[in-house]
Amino acid sequence: MRQIERARRAAEIAEVDALLISPGADLRYLIGYDALLLERLTCLVIPAAVDPFLVVPELELPAAHASLGPVRVEIVAWADTVDPYELIRHRLPGNVGRILVDNHMWAEKVLALQAALPRAHFGPANTILGDLRMRKTAQEIASLRAAGAAIDRVHAEINQWLSPGRTERQVARDIADAMLQSGHARADFVIVGSGPNSASPHHEASDRMIGPGEPVVVDISGTMPDGYRSDSTRTYSIGAPPAEFLAYYEVLLAAQSAQVATAQPGITAGELDAVGRDIITAAGYGPNFLHRTGHGIGLDVHEDPYIVAGSPRILATGMAFSIEPGIYFPGRHGARIEDIVICTDDGVETLNNTPRQLRVL
Ligand code: ZN
Ligand code: ZN
Repeated sequence: MRQIERARRAAEIAEVDALLISPGADLRYLIGYDALLLERLTCLVIPAAVDPFLVVPELELPAAHASLGPVRVEIVAWADTVDPYELIRHRLPGNVGRILVDNHMWAEKVLALQAALPRAHFGPANTILGDLRMRKTAQEIASLRAAGAAIDRVHAEINQWLSPGRTERQVARDIADAMLQSGHARADFVIVGSGPNSASPHHEASDRMIGPGEPVVVDISGTMPDGYRSDSTRTYSIGAPPAEFLAYYEVLLAAQSAQVATAQPGITAGELDAVGRDIITAAGYGPNFLHRTGHGIGLDVHEDPYIVAGSPRILATGMAFSIEPGIYFPGRHGARIEDIVICTDDGVETLNNTPRQLRVL
């Protein structure tokens, strides 16, 4: 069954009258349209009762036709003198009561829709689409596998760019170029955290010069031409690192390995988080593992399911998510190891396979 039909049926079961989807991962998931996200309204309307239609600005009509390919959905173009929100109101059945909009729709668009449909009750479409997108199809798994292989090729050649005397930004620029050469359409983020910056999980890159004996966290993520994302972290050391760093790196490696070995359908996301957190806590580093274990990945780099402490979400075959524990000492150094895995019937397939042991360059 096509994704759009699955979404329509799920909406019907949930007693939702219409799904309204603006450009982004949800739109690409449903009809393959990688639309521009601009102020003019592009919106896929999936009513429960009548056929879906795609509202597009007239000047983007050729782009929509080119991107949609064989997908059969009626396209309704609107000229700049037309109010697209009135157009949607006019085409929806008069009694729509419950409307779900994609979670990333701009506020100005949500507010305009609410003004056009004052009697409708609005909610987030992720309550339906999140569940659909979480379980990957065989084709989506193949796409994520290709993304994983592409980012692995970049990590495998890191020694070409990562060396003492260079700045994080210089290294990040070379890595971004390599990501494009390895098959990505876009480098979304390139984290190169050296020395004390390695203790800041979402540090990107700065003009700091990388010095000898320093750990460097390299967390890189990009988008493949078909929209699917890569995301992998490895921690490197420029020459021999401090002894205290080596001690906790071994704990981190044991925790991450145990989590990959334990992940399987039937356990909860919270239980999977605990497998790594317990090992790190028992070694005395509990407070230094300050974030969740991981996040789902697909057409978005962060999506359901989130692997977070206490989560009752039950893992199931076809789910794709990261396993990325970290240990951080603010102002000194830190480390993280991240792989994307796919839940299989009895375990996981690991999509990132470069060595996880500390690589000393
Ligand atoms: Zn991640
Ligand atoms: Zn990452």
